[in-house]
Amino acid sequence: MHNPSPRATGPTPGTSQPVDDRGYVALVRAQASVLHLDLDAFFAAVEQRDKPSLRGKPVVVGGVGGRGVVATASYEARQYGVRSAMSTREARSRCPHAAFLGGRFPAYREASAAVMGLLRSVSPLVEPLSLDEAFVDLARADLPDLELTTVTAFAEELRQRVHEVTHGLTASVGLGTSKFIAKVASELDKPDGLTVVPPGTERDLLRPMAVSVIPGVGPATDERLRRAGLRTVADLEAVDLDELVRLVGKAHGSGLWHLARALDDRPVVSEREAKSVSVEGTYETDLTDRRLMEGLLTRQAGEVAARLRKHGLSGRTISIKVRLHDFTTLSRSSTLSSPTDATATIARLARALLADLDTSGGVRLLGVGVSGLADWIQDDLFGESDPGAPADDDLPMIEAPTSRRTTWAPGMDVVHAAMGRGWVWGSGRGVVTVRFETAQTPPGPVRSYPIDDPDLAPWRLPLPEHDA
Ligand SMILES: [Mg+2]
Repeated sequence: MHNPSPRATGPTPGTSQPVDDRGYVALVRAQASVLHLDLDAFFAAVEQRDKPSLRGKPVVVGGVGGRGVVATASYEARQYGVRSAMSTREARSRCPHAAFLGGRFPAYREASAAVMGLLRSVSPLVEPLSLDEAFVDLARADLPDLELTTVTAFAEELRQRVHEVTHGLTASVGLGTSKFIAKVASELDKPDGLTVVPPGTERDLLRPMAVSVIPGVGPATDERLRRAGLRTVADLEAVDLDELVRLVGKAHGSGLWHLARALDDRPVVSEREAKSVSVEGTYETDLTDRRLMEGLLTRQAGEVAARLRKHGLSGRTISIKVRLHDFTTLSRSSTLSSPTDATATIARLARALLADLDTSGGVRLLGVGVSGLADWIQDDLFGESDPGAPADDDLPMIEAPTSRRTTWAPGMDVVHAAMGRGWVWGSGRGVVTVRFETAQTPPGPVRSYPIDDPDLAPWRLPLPEHDA
């Protein structure tokens, strides 16, 4: 399809390469050679894979305590309105019959490593965005050409191979002429779908979409645009560059102007920098008052959110850093399914992460950070970020079984001397209930034991060292 480009301010040869009024030309690819792959409902899908009795049922992975937050909900749970970043309390009221699991990071990491390894075997240019998401540059893959039929067949085969290497997980894939379009495309046929956006059709695809589809348009920018009456990409396209700059600032305005026209020439970069924005404070006297700590985290969340908005960024991973009186430094983080720049969301997640830590001995440093940034401004931020901040996506909010005593967290893997492997279905009042099944068995029986039963022990994945 030919792109009519009625509002382009420059010549539009081929797939439209207009020049903005400052003379910048975005050299968008002529072929749909950027691939975006996103595993479907990743944490929940791993749980359903490994827990046969939960297949086809609502599953919610996240903080399971009183102040926990949802990390991922299975599609069955989403039908009840359960969403990432929602409080677990709210999720329980919407879908009380869901399985609420604390999450098993080693299993997620193993599945992620298998997928990233597969992607790196097809192209040297793979850019992971998080554990379950990556861009792949097909221009560097070993393909005979980059025609639509070729890349489409390749993407279908890749989805099949992801299914194989993960022993049953599904991925949604988008193909387009840029990272922006590929990422938008992978969302269009979720779960387990493939969407290819033919070169030249990008603007028609984007026009009816909400402005929030544009990377970097988080809740705050969305709200500002909405107040100016700009709801769709078509609305944005009709606004000239100066007015956009006036609305959202210089760097952000220029980015919006280009992306509203599908002009995105960001390269796929294989070694993504660990990017984060964080704020922390050190205190003269050890903090012991939980209320005060929550207040400080809330204020820091506000500062982080303001910095994100200032730079037109939003992020998926919210982290806290806590240094105890004995200088032990703890970090915990929680990854959302979509990026945020909202103070309230960052603050809520930060407080939920704090709630899982034992700070009774006193705290001398507190910090909040956001990483997993969704950006298209590549360079001008990171001078300000704190290199000491927790930058990995690596610690989902999971109530980690880090304490000395065994904590029988719901969903954790266990092994029983006589019954073999299973997982904790629930515990309380001195009893732990286990369902005995694994990915390789049919749905298994449920048994209960005293929490200190010597025949029952945590089971850990023998984890190879991999990925940095
Ligand atoms: Mg995903």
